[in-house]
Amino acid sequence: MSKADLMRFDYNVLPARVIFGAGRRVEVPAELERLGIERALVITTADQSTVCAEFGAMINERLGALYPGAVMHTPTAVTESAMRQMEQMKCDGLLAIGGGSSIGLAKAIAYRTDLPQLVVPTTYAGSEMTSILGQTEQGRKTTLRSPKVLPETVVYDPELTLTLPAAITGPSGMNAIAHAVEALYAKDGNPVVSLMAEESIRALGESLPRLVTDGKDLAARETALYGSWLAGICLGAVAMAIHHKICHTLGGSFDLNHADVHCLMIPYTAAYNRSAAPNAMAAVGRALRTQDAPGALYDLMKTVGRIHSLAAMGLGLADLEQAADLAVENPYHNPRPVTRDGVLEMLAAAYEGRRPAN
Ligand code: NAD
Repeated sequence: MSKADLMRFDYNVLPARVIFGAGRRVEVPAELERLGIERALVITTADQSTVCAEFGAMINERLGALYPGAVMHTPTAVTESAMRQMEQMKCDGLLAIGGGSSIGLAKAIAYRTDLPQLVVPTTYAGSEMTSILGQTEQGRKTTLRSPKVLPETVVYDPELTLTLPAAITGPSGMNAIAHAVEALYAKDGNPVVSLMAEESIRALGESLPRLVTDGKDLAARETALYGSWLAGICLGAVAMAIHHKICHTLGGSFDLNHADVHCLMIPYTAAYNRSAAPNAMAAVGRALRTQDAPGALYDLMKTVGRIHSLAAMGLGLADLEQAADLAVENPYHNPRPVTRDGVLEMLAAAYEGRRPAN
């Protein structure tokens, strides 16, 4: 065995208190107390304003104010408006219920105030497990990392995901799978994160097809939320590569839905790295019971995804050129070197929604 074959890794996982289980949202008041939060700002999107009011009623005397105004990509103007309400009502902590948009707003406020956060995720985006904050100002999205944005406590209650429509369930779950796939070839990967990543892909690969036919299947909801939790840990623990870079570029430059882009692109980015990351592909293959990991991701994308090509997302051929330029602008680690021609070829396949070549 040569030295290059021997194990060598760093292991860093972010601290978090996680409470998982159907019905466990009833423990939210006790968890607020544990965090010392006496007047919580309850954050959701407008679509989840009923859930916002329900949580407001449940936490009763610990309610500071309701803020059902979170939106995707965390615009700073929304953060400032929520903070004004928070200050008026003398809130001393944050309770976010929802997907990455609600959680993003709580993180943006915590970044500015260092207030404690209790988060109740209801999609599979995984933001709750990371110290990453993406924010948009004047149409430009920037990302930062800070320990201040990591939620202190996360309550996962699969019952809250029963209402997630199939059109969001599938893409959001594929967004989680994308975190796990990239964790398997991360430059700072380690064996524990790889175990979590493989298990995450197995759990989501098994549950998502069931959920797009029956969104009320609580056992499948539980499995999917478990898989997304693991994927979130992976995202928070190790560096992502071409997949996240290209989705960030496409989403930010062409205002595309976050989860839909991740869902569409993961077969293509996996195909891009296929020969450069054989161990990662073998792990994805074990998780999805296949020899052809990008092919299996493509089949999953077709089964559970909402939009199956970049053309159907409204992109034109000239946009692909622009996206390829942006994708190679700042060099970053990826198993296979990121070249403009390579990226363009990958985007052309995704544009047509073609099955990745084996
Ligand atoms: P989202 O939070 O916008 O939710 C999508 C839609 O689903 C919203 O309209 C929401 O109201 C609705 N919804 C959520 N849960 C529901 C439920 N259980 N039932 C019915 N409807 C429900 O979308 P998302 O994909 O979860 O998050 C995307 C955002 O999160 C993006 O801004 C992205 O950049 C960010 N994100 C950040 C990180 C990070 O680590 N910082 C990680 C992943 C995603």
